Amino acid sequence: MAFTQQRRGGRPPQGNSRPSGGRSFGGGGGGRRGGGNRGPAKKYIHPSKFINKAVAKADEIVYESKHKFADFPFGAQLHHNISHKGYVTPSAIQDQAIPHIIEGRDVIGLANTGTGKTAAFLLPIIERQSGISLRPSVLIVAPTRELAQQIDEQFREFSKGLNLYSALIVGGVNVDRQIRDLKRRPHFIIGTPGRLKDLMQRRILRLDTMTTLVLDEADRMLDMGFLPDIRQIVDAMPRERQTLFFSATITPDIQALVNTFLNNPETVSVRTSETSEHVEQDIIEVRDKSQKIDILTEMLRGEAYDKVLVFGETKFGVQRLSDHLDNSGIPSAAIHGNKNQSQRQRALKQFKDERVKVLVATDVAARGLDIPNVSHVINFDTPQTYEDYVHRIGRTGRGGASGRAHTFIDAR
Ligand code: AMP
Repeated sequence: MAFTQQRRGGRPPQGNSRPSGGRSFGGGGGGRRGGGNRGPAKKYIHPSKFINKAVAKADEIVYESKHKFADFPFGAQLHHNISHKGYVTPSAIQDQAIPHIIEGRDVIGLANTGTGKTAAFLLPIIERQSGISLRPSVLIVAPTRELAQQIDEQFREFSKGLNLYSALIVGGVNVDRQIRDLKRRPHFIIGTPGRLKDLMQRRILRLDTMTTLVLDEADRMLDMGFLPDIRQIVDAMPRERQTLFFSATITPDIQALVNTFLNNPETVSVRTSETSEHVEQDIIEVRDKSQKIDILTEMLRGEAYDKVLVFGETKFGVQRLSDHLDNSGIPSAAIHGNKNQSQRQRALKQFKDERVKVLVATDVAARGLDIPNVSHVINFDTPQTYEDYVHRIGRTGRGGASGRAHTFIDAR
């Protein structure tokens, strides 16, 4: 194995200083890095938290679904679309949330990406919409363009043959087409807070006919500073509505939102099935950045590393690292905030289609993306918070597959 520097147990570091050398890969003369500074200062995380022996597969409790899709009172075409997509058994969040949503209850879903939460809210709403002439009536708000796009893609698959239409209202792309789409009065509007608010203010988007609101990844939307936009959007909706609220965490801020936006909600939590217990985690101690790059490059040449998500801190650092890997013969793509929508989409598709084996990403760019079957998550730069760490490594070891995570830390 190439990484002989790897040690278990991590010596407790002195003090709480973090390496101050530019986190953008390659040094670059110590200038300002630009682009990576977001939010509060990094919190110190003890290296022991990056180490975990994965729980043996046999210990896993497999969720036993109480329903089959056939048990849900959906029309024949929707049932057909569900099986056409290859879904046989509902996931835990689907099994537990769908009956409440069908009943018309407000629901808080505590679930991460990868749990099947998208279908959990889409299916019952699609069922209710078929045959309804009021449009638009469903608003789905998500933190990132990519997540909104993935929801829209799933919507299109599930609504085939049902004469239901959607408009995707996200930033970073031309607004004219979105305005045209809205004029056609789609049943579903799926978007990100900034662009939705923008079109509301221009009086192109009106929300007074809406009957259903979905807030997806609410905790991420708060992290990204979308709270004022969300408040404005929700205030423009009728009070009489169904609200479905998804979040991976419930912090006091989130609880406050729930209290104002939802009416007597039912809570469904499936977070325990998505813990980091199943991910084999370890640290790799390095002397300096150049050793870190050497070790990473060497590791990635290994055959087991076939679909690797590498996290870096800054937009520039991520791009440089990806370019370096690519130039070293390791096919790699990058995804970060300096790329426009179509460039991000292309990078993600290359990775999903396994045309590159490495995707280097910033936390923000990777948020909410559905990236299946990642073999390894590598934290080239340590995450901002432990919560970010858990979120990062949750991209591997999904659905019973074994996953591995490595975190580079400074040798002391
Ligand atoms: P999500 O958490 O909604 O992003 O879904 C994660 C992935 O799981 C997506 O690729 C879905 O298409 C897939 N998925 C969701 N529900 C099911 C199900 N009941 N059976 C099989 N695959 C599913």
